[in-house]
Amino acid sequence: MRLILLGPPGSGKGTQAKLIVDNNAIPHLSTGDMLRQAVAAKTETGKKAQAVMNAGKLVSDDIVNAIVSDRIDMSDCSNGFILDGYPRTLKQADALGAMLEGKGLSLNCVVALRVDDDALVERVSGRFTCSKCGEGYHDKYKLPQVPGKCDRCGSKIFTRRVDDNEETMRTRLQAYYKETAPLIGFYYAKGLLRGVDGMGDIAEVAEGVQRVLEEAVR
Ligand code: AMP
Repeated sequence: MRLILLGPPGSGKGTQAKLIVDNNAIPHLSTGDMLRQAVAAKTETGKKAQAVMNAGKLVSDDIVNAIVSDRIDMSDCSNGFILDGYPRTLKQADALGAMLEGKGLSLNCVVALRVDDDALVERVSGRFTCSKCGEGYHDKYKLPQVPGKCDRCGSKIFTRRVDDNEETMRTRLQAYYKETAPLIGFYYAKGLLRGVDGMGDIAEVAEGVQRVLEEAVR
């Protein structure tokens, strides 16, 4: 199954993608994660992307298109993949279409998470993850059961993304509405769009996502 997860920053794409990985045995391709890894490893791509990412702006299409194309060619993507954070512009959506066609592949569906905008800034400003296993937490909604200790792996080291602050979040939301939201109409016109209510708790949203995925491959 090949799918795109669409939704504004903070809509729960990353969280839902991890659950889709567990339920469907396909890898999670997050351009944000891949770019953050490139920044941490100080690669040429990472050096080009770092300042743009810290400002909450979009990295150039050439860079992200190339990263995604290389990643899709890896053997673990042979049964499909979940794209999270890509495509983010109509130009990237066109590039993805041409890229998949060139590889003899097509998309099964595009899942759009519908969320209430007012909740997004609060959700993003409070989030942090375990540095070791990547488990996600939130200052208000999901603190570790034992303070300072990861529920999943026991690590005591946590990370907050530099771009998860209120000011950068507002820039990222503007970029989403200007550049990415038009993809909803683009994929609707192709008959691929499936909307899911993203405002429930994690398990409820996951159920909604799984339902539309099963319908899409029926
Ligand atoms: P994310 O983890 O998806 O919120 O992405 C974090 C940051 O990485 C974004 O604010 C952008 O600077 C950059 N980024 C991730 N994916 C893309 C993309 N498809 N196109 C351009 N920039 C991207």
